[in-house]
Amino acid sequence: MHDGPNPWYTDGLRFSCTRCGHCCRVEGHVWVGAREIRAIARFLGLTRDDFGRRFLRRIGRRLSLVEEPNHDCVFWDEECTIYPVRPRQCRTFPFWGKSLASSEAWRSTAIDCEGIDTGRLYSLPEIDALRAGRGETADAPAGAQSPRPQGG
Ligand code: SF4
Repeated sequence: MHDGPNPWYTDGLRFSCTRCGHCCRVEGHVWVGAREIRAIARFLGLTRDDFGRRFLRRIGRRLSLVEEPNHDCVFWDEECTIYPVRPRQCRTFPFWGKSLASSEAWRSTAIDCEGIDTGRLYSLPEIDALRAGRGETADAPAGAQSPRPQGG
């Protein structure tokens, strides 16, 4: 959550994913929890253990999806191949705490994400929900007809 009633993004922020894939193809971690692991394994028709052996790496106390030697997400193949069960981190990008920490941090995130500051306006409550890990980005408000969102 933000500090105080009026964060710098109190009037909302614009974001519409262009599906460029850049955020899926950079070095980093895609953290996954037990529920996400079960969902992805089921989606792929794998047991939890098989999935873990092939697609997970332990970083300290947490688990991350593995990435290719070129840093592509292991599930990137011109598009996200586990899109319906993609992790929360992917569903809520770029509305992460570190991106929302300041307008400077938001602008810095925008350097690598061409969808930031374009298209759909997210309200403060929507941003707060995403920041808290609830819901997912979408091109139109819930209930409206919308193309498939690509959270990265
Ligand atoms: S979230 Fe941004 S970087 Fe990722 S695919 Fe969409 S536009 Fe590209």
